[in-house]
Amino acid sequence: MHFDLTEEQALIKKTMRDFAEGEVAPGADERDRTKAFPEDVFHKLTKLGVMGLPFPEQYGGGGADTISFAIAVEELSRVCASTGITYSAHISLGGAPIHLFGTHEQKEKYLTPLCTGEYLGAFGLTEPNAGSDAGGTRTTAKLDGDQWIISGSKCFITNASFAKNLSLTAVSDRSKGTDGISAFIVPTDAPGFTVLSNYEKMGLHASNTTELVLENVTVPKENLLGKEGHGYKQFLATLDGGRIGIGAMAVGIAQGAYDKSLHYAKVRKQFGHSLSAFQAIQFKLADMAMNIELARNMVYKAAWLKDQGRGFKKEAAMAKLFASEICMKACDQAVQIHGGYGYMKEYQVERFFRDAKLLEIGEGTSEVQRMVIARQIGC
Ligand SMILES: Cc1cc2nc3c(=O)[nH]c(=O)nc-3n(C[C@H](O)[C@H](O)[C@H](O)COP(=O)(O)OP(=O)(O)OC[C@H]3O[C@@H](n4cnc5c(N)ncnc54)[C@H](O)[C@@H]3O)c2cc1C
Repeated sequence: MHFDLTEEQALIKKTMRDFAEGEVAPGADERDRTKAFPEDVFHKLTKLGVMGLPFPEQYGGGGADTISFAIAVEELSRVCASTGITYSAHISLGGAPIHLFGTHEQKEKYLTPLCTGEYLGAFGLTEPNAGSDAGGTRTTAKLDGDQWIISGSKCFITNASFAKNLSLTAVSDRSKGTDGISAFIVPTDAPGFTVLSNYEKMGLHASNTTELVLENVTVPKENLLGKEGHGYKQFLATLDGGRIGIGAMAVGIAQGAYDKSLHYAKVRKQFGHSLSAFQAIQFKLADMAMNIELARNMVYKAAWLKDQGRGFKKEAAMAKLFASEICMKACDQAVQIHGGYGYMKEYQVERFFRDAKLLEIGEGTSEVQRMVIARQIGC
């Protein structure tokens, strides 16, 4: 089978590669050190017009396909995974649930400002006691006249400090189990809503990871997203798309680690030869190149199926699982190829190694992906 990017996808790849190298890469190490959020980068991405890349033009989006979105995430992550996760979460966790389940009015009110880059998108699902088992959600939503009163807490939520509104899940009817979970759009400046950003993380230092505390936060009845009791199904569908984003991030980080390793292997000499002359190093690089190629194809396939309106749950889980695991391995090998220098921040593969680990955890751990795949293959 012959596979080529379309003209539009190729243009997005070139535009995002140039932008990433020119505007994102130069400050990436400094942001990793200082934990500064890449606000300036996002102002520039807004000017570039890609903040709503895969959403309809009617709401200010770019009307592009999911492969184009994956390409954009890959190119940002190749130089700065913190920028990559911020962008990926903005689109696939922030915008997607509103695009998939919102009414026309909700899309106009909440999707458009995401597409025009007015603020970032975020999605609150995980709670201190409900991670892989998201059915264990404890945050509650009680209907009181024309208002929902929401109380509870969420943890590890990406982008919330930079979101004016976000979607989150809460139990609206405890007696119905997962069919009693609903989704709501909640303004982050509502009285009783606190967003905290105090985590000390392993990596992705320039990304924003928050805790949400909701104490009797009231939102109008019409802020229910989708149907009452459909929140669980909705977030499962949202995560299917999000996994394409995480897979693309993994391909990007792995590609960045590989590019640096190939270059280093050519310039570093030991025993009178470049490292790239040693078969042990060649084999590491060959495996990296092969795995990245496979992972990228898997991400593209899942994205293509999604764009065709076909089922893509299994393929998205496989792409996310495979890409994140080969990414971790590629970053490990990248540090190894760089030797002692790889252990130093200056050579950047150390940052890639720390950032990559999240991909095996976020939007469903590797164990959860295997559970999803097992179910899909009829176990
Ligand atoms: C940087 C970062 C950003 C994030 N961003 C967001 C976000 O924007 N929105 C959001 O809602 N969440 C977000 N998350 C949360 C993330 O999705 C969860 O951390 C993840 O789903 C795992 O949940 P947990 O941490 O509670 O781990 P747990 O569910 O407690 O899992 C711990 C371990 O047990 C394993 N395990 C659990 N159940 C089983 C089982 N049945 N069989 C086998 N093994 C099992 C897991 O695979 C894992 O290895 C983020 C997390 C991080 C670290």
